[in-house]
Amino acid sequence: MERRTPPAAASQSAGKSPTPAKVPATKPTPPAPAPTPAAPLPAVTPRPKRGVPEGLWQKCDGCQQTIYRKEAEEILNVCPKCGFHWYVSAAKRIEQLLDAGTFEEWDGGLRPTDPLGFRDKKPYAERLISEQRRTGLSDAALTGTGMIRARRVACGVTDSSFIMGSMGSVVGERLTRLIERATPQKLPLIIISASGGGARMHEGILSLMQMAKVSAALARYSQAGGLFISVLTNPTMGGVAASFASLGDLCFAEPRALIGFAGPRTIKATIRVELPKGFQTSEFLLEHGFIDRIVARKDLKSEIARAIDYCSR
Ligand SMILES: [Zn+2]
Repeated sequence: MERRTPPAAASQSAGKSPTPAKVPATKPTPPAPAPTPAAPLPAVTPRPKRGVPEGLWQKCDGCQQTIYRKEAEEILNVCPKCGFHWYVSAAKRIEQLLDAGTFEEWDGGLRPTDPLGFRDKKPYAERLISEQRRTGLSDAALTGTGMIRARRVACGVTDSSFIMGSMGSVVGERLTRLIERATPQKLPLIIISASGGGARMHEGILSLMQMAKVSAALARYSQAGGLFISVLTNPTMGGVAASFASLGDLCFAEPRALIGFAGPRTIKATIRVELPKGFQTSEFLLEHGFIDRIVARKDLKSEIARAIDYCSR
């Protein structure tokens, strides 16, 4: 897989003096002597600010302005200046979407394992533990049942903060069980995708087969007459976009979400063609018939309720 360098890294290093070439590590070098305190510092250009303090202000990815976080939170984590839809965690999403206190989690006890003994920068087993501690999730999907304006639904949400929301065995199994329970219970099925990672490479073929497994469960659900509303949010990419997220009877997307298979830079580098403007955004995909409707976050709950009523008539 191609390793991509974030664009920021190039511009950061451009400003710095060149770093000396690495010498092979032989012996640990003794600590450098303390600098002489007397030397006055020349006037330097201020260092670029390293973001704003976590918790109070946040820079918007849509308009690059600094936004008072509380103000955005009050409107469901949407930028008050430009309407860009920010990240929301799976738990928060459920809180926003379902009637208060109605969510009941299913299969929360499933835990990821490391069948390949995989390691990239660090062992997958360690990565899982650190991701679990950081996010409070056991894996990248939450599934269960709850009510949307008093209509019972089966609901699944993926969370892009847990290994990019990628689909490993637990995500696939939770979603499959969700669908398989929704089928006999004749529950409308809502899956909200926020997965930048696609299939989880750390689990190799076991993650790829989740695409087929979830899709097969969806086919049986569809044959039984179920209504599946897929909600694509920023980002929905890779194996998630290429399986269940694209299989909705209705596909909704949040405004300006990145939706696609491979990232735009990868495609550009592979086929060497200038990509059309707005490529892989919700708006572009609506225009090209890939999704059915763009729904702002504030309207999502009522739009889903309306679609359920309309389709169950
Ligand atoms: Zn903004």
